[in-house]
Amino acid sequence: MTDIFYDLETKELLDPNLPDQETAIRTLTMSVGVTWCECHDAQTFRTTAPLIKHLLVHDRIIGFNIVRFDNTVLAWSPDRPARDPLDPDALRVPDSPIELKKLLDQKSFDLLADLEARLGHRVGLAALAEGSLGRQKLATGPQAVVWNRLAVALRERWPLALTNVGDTEGAERVNELGAWFQERLEKYCLQDVLLVKKIFEYGVVNKRVAYIDFEGERRVVKVQWR
Ligand SMILES: [Zn+2]
Repeated sequence: MTDIFYDLETKELLDPNLPDQETAIRTLTMSVGVTWCECHDAQTFRTTAPLIKHLLVHDRIIGFNIVRFDNTVLAWSPDRPARDPLDPDALRVPDSPIELKKLLDQKSFDLLADLEARLGHRVGLAALAEGSLGRQKLATGPQAVVWNRLAVALRERWPLALTNVGDTEGAERVNELGAWFQERLEKYCLQDVLLVKKIFEYGVVNKRVAYIDFEGERRVVKVQWR
């Protein structure tokens, strides 16, 4: 069985005050997605069509909060693989968002959904990483959103404006800075993928994981992951 781990970042933040969260998640756009699997190692995606195709060639998709969040963003993304009769991987992808979501969910093992069912409440990835591995997350979702905005603006808008006024050195610098923010964003996304992988493997081996609760106490949860 081939497993693939994945996580994606979005261009906008989810507004937790909106009454219909499911619909709000459907309108979010991916900025970057990262996968890790033994067969292909780490891969970075800036568009959803190749990411969807890549995920579906694996037997099991593992992530954190993917059923509620990441799979929904992917399934409702207008950028999906073209139906090329010569490409069996593309033909595997259903046309309708509801069908695609169903297929992704069927293949998914979601650590958060599993823990929520056991605990009766949600836990954060940061709390789980700290409790189980003693490790911190590199950044936060809101930081990733700002980094993406900066990377895009620095790459697409300012180099041209500077070139137009004859400042080629400035244009180069701005390009470099944009690339630096892009790299930070992709590194952060990859780190979350690898954290989920480590937590999953920890749970498989130890039959338990731990998280830090709101009072700073370390709490242990038994799991039956394989
Ligand atoms: Zn693979």
